[in-house]
Amino acid sequence: MPQITAYEDAKATRKERQVPTGTAWRTNFIDPDPENAATPQAFLVEGTPGRVIKPHFHDYDQYQVIVSGDGLMGKHQLTVNAVHYSRAHTPYGPILFGEGMGFLTLRAVKDGGAQYLDDPENRAKLDAVNNRDPFQVTEAPQFKAVTSGAAIHDFSEIKDEQGLSSHSMSVAPNAKAMAPDPSDSNGQYLIVVRGSLLYQGKEYKALTVAFVKPEEGRLELTAGSEGLDVLVLNFPRSGAAVQAKPAAPQTAKNVPGTRVWQCMLCAFVYDEAKGMPDEGVAPGTLWEDVPETWYCPDCSASKSEFKMAQIA
Ligand code: FE
Repeated sequence: MPQITAYEDAKATRKERQVPTGTAWRTNFIDPDPENAATPQAFLVEGTPGRVIKPHFHDYDQYQVIVSGDGLMGKHQLTVNAVHYSRAHTPYGPILFGEGMGFLTLRAVKDGGAQYLDDPENRAKLDAVNNRDPFQVTEAPQFKAVTSGAAIHDFSEIKDEQGLSSHSMSVAPNAKAMAPDPSDSNGQYLIVVRGSLLYQGKEYKALTVAFVKPEEGRLELTAGSEGLDVLVLNFPRSGAAVQAKPAAPQTAKNVPGTRVWQCMLCAFVYDEAKGMPDEGVAPGTLWEDVPETWYCPDCSASKSEFKMAQIA
C-alpha cells in the first residue's frame, strides 16, 4: 500500500533552526525506516529570503519540487511546480531562497546528507566514483484545465533508458484516472499540487506526497470536487548512476570557435559556437575569452574545472 501524507498531517514535524544565512525549516512527509536505509525519504525545505545552501551533491538520485515562492538554483530561476532532477554524485547549486520559497526533496532511498563541494574530501570523493555520469535538469510541468477525464503531459528532459520519467497529470473534478506505471522504476512519487486526491475514504489536499513501490503497480487516482493536479515522478532503477556514458559531443576538429568545453563536476557543456547570450557571452566566443569570473551555471564550478570535450 502506498505511503501517503498531506501537509496537514506532516506539519507537526516542522522544525526550525538557525543557519548562517537565515532561518531554515524542515517538515518531514515520509520518513525512512530506521532499520532499513533502502526506504524512501521525503521532506519540505523552507528558508527566509537570502538563505543559501552551498553547492553540493548526494550519494543517491533525487527529485526536488518547488512548492512555493521563488529562488535560484545555480544561475537558474526556480518557479512554483518546477521539477529538478539530479542523478547521484551530480553537484548543483548554490540554492538561493527568494521570498517564501519552499521545495520538496524526494528520494527513493535514504541519503546521508549534503556533501559540500568546498570540502576537499568531498571533492576527492567525487573524483573517485567509478563511472560517474553526472546529469541534472530542471523542467516545468504542463497542467491542463480538464472538465472531464484526465490529461497527461510527459516531461521531455527528465527521462532516461533506466526508467527515469516524469509526468504532470490533471484529473477533472470527481473523475478517475490511472497514474503512470511505476513497475519499471525504483519507485514513484505522486505530488498533489492543486485540488485533492480521494484515497481510501480520505481526502488528501495539496500539498500531499505519496510514494508508490514498483511492485504496487499503477494507482487509480480519484479527484476531489475541485479536480486534481498531480506530478508523477519515477526514479530510475537501481544502478542507473553507473550506466555507460553517452558519447562525447561531436565536433569537427579542435578548431577554435567550434570547440566544446565540459564541466568535470556536473557535465554542463559550454559550446563556443553557441556562446551563452543570456550571460553576455556572444556566440563564437572562444573559451579563452570567457571571463575568468564566469562560473558553471549548474554547479558554480570555476572555469578551471572545465575540459575540452574529447573528439570521437
Ligand atoms: Fe558544473
